[in-house]
Amino acid sequence: MAPTHDALVARSLAAVWHPCTQMKRHEAQPPVAIARAQGPWLYGTDGKRYLDGISSWWVNLFGHSHPHIQAALVDQLGRLDHVMLAGFTHAPVVELSERLAALTDLGHAFYGSDGAAATEIALKMSAHYWRNTGRPAKSRFVGLAGGYHGETVGALAVTDIAIFREAYAPLVRLADTVPSPDARGAAPGETAQDVARRAAAALEAWLQEHHSTTAALIVEPLVQCAAGMALHDPEYLRLARALCDRYEVHLVVDEIAVGFGRTGTMFAHQQAGIRPDFICLSKGLTGGTLPLSAVLTTDAVYAAFYDDDVARGFLHSHSYTGNPLACRAALATLELFEQLDALNANQALAQRIDAACAPLSQHPRVRHARRIGMIWAWDVDTPLPDFARRYHQHAMARGLVLRPIGKTLYAMPPYALDDEAVQCLAHGALDALNATLQEES
Ligand SMILES: *Cc1c(COP(=O)(O)O)cnc(C)c1O
Repeated sequence: MAPTHDALVARSLAAVWHPCTQMKRHEAQPPVAIARAQGPWLYGTDGKRYLDGISSWWVNLFGHSHPHIQAALVDQLGRLDHVMLAGFTHAPVVELSERLAALTDLGHAFYGSDGAAATEIALKMSAHYWRNTGRPAKSRFVGLAGGYHGETVGALAVTDIAIFREAYAPLVRLADTVPSPDARGAAPGETAQDVARRAAAALEAWLQEHHSTTAALIVEPLVQCAAGMALHDPEYLRLARALCDRYEVHLVVDEIAVGFGRTGTMFAHQQAGIRPDFICLSKGLTGGTLPLSAVLTTDAVYAAFYDDDVARGFLHSHSYTGNPLACRAALATLELFEQLDALNANQALAQRIDAACAPLSQHPRVRHARRIGMIWAWDVDTPLPDFARRYHQHAMARGLVLRPIGKTLYAMPPYALDDEAVQCLAHGALDALNATLQEES
């Protein structure tokens, strides 16, 4: 017999350490036990239903329990569950690597299981490239203010979010940061492009001084999600690409959150028409079913490791590197982009969501209402210091999962919302905002 909701939650609190959570907070607001999920809906063990307005931390693309991905996984499970990828290979990893290369114009896919691992792989590869090419001093990194690239000790070096980093500062070899091209930083009369040029000028000044010790610049193209859905103009990426070329520094684009159609194009950096030296992928890569990450790079980087000397190779590994089940899930996800003509379908869906969310975007307390592709964000002008926590509770009470970042409310829903789900998102988000603002007095 299935345990009751309350019993399951109590056992979870006793046995499970939940991520990104001050566990004591759960005394007041316990976690919600989920029994199953279908499309954009999560179903609690208490029988309640919740719209997954943030795609379960940005991983789900086509809705939960998608039959096409399920069928691929069941098929794969009957053939090959796992085999180590050192000394072995298999059809799913080969096909996925070929497809990702065709989509990105890079290649030599290297696999990990999480986004943070992809960040670490790209940074290690970049520094090792410079070592292999006789320039070992180029071993440092630079990122953008407010950047987020994961939370393992190596990835934290380029993650500029104080609350995630402060306690671990002594463990981390901190990278430098350069100003973010966040378009909200525009002075009166300035365009987003002007902000991008100003930030690029700061990058140039930094590179002039530090290029000889710098391996790579890492950026989240077009949207710094964890910073609060900070958008920037593609001009920044064009200028950064040119500067990285001029100063001989790799450009790593972290598409972990924004890849796979989130910004309207398959990959965000494609809107700038640039070719990076490394791309990091994860989150939506498997449509939100299994953990998998990948790093793709250029032939030039690959060639610098290709040698008779073992130590010049890239000896990094994870036990589950290239797991066949995860690769099949990723292949099925890529097939769905074609079957559903997803990028075009999303344009129409986004317009329906725009229309439904117009009252929220025009709310007198909302600043910088913005959208790119399938990402919406609204900054809320409120003195409530714990706006995010309060808002989340009010949204959950309305059957809607939204977790603001600071005072930025955002939605990043699966690409599979019918009219009922669109209305739930738009009305729930607005009602929850009004209910939260009521608590100001
Ligand atoms: C989520 C995220 C990561 C880290 O991915 P994990 O799988 O959580 O380790 C890295 N970069 C960006 C841009 C992300 O959004």
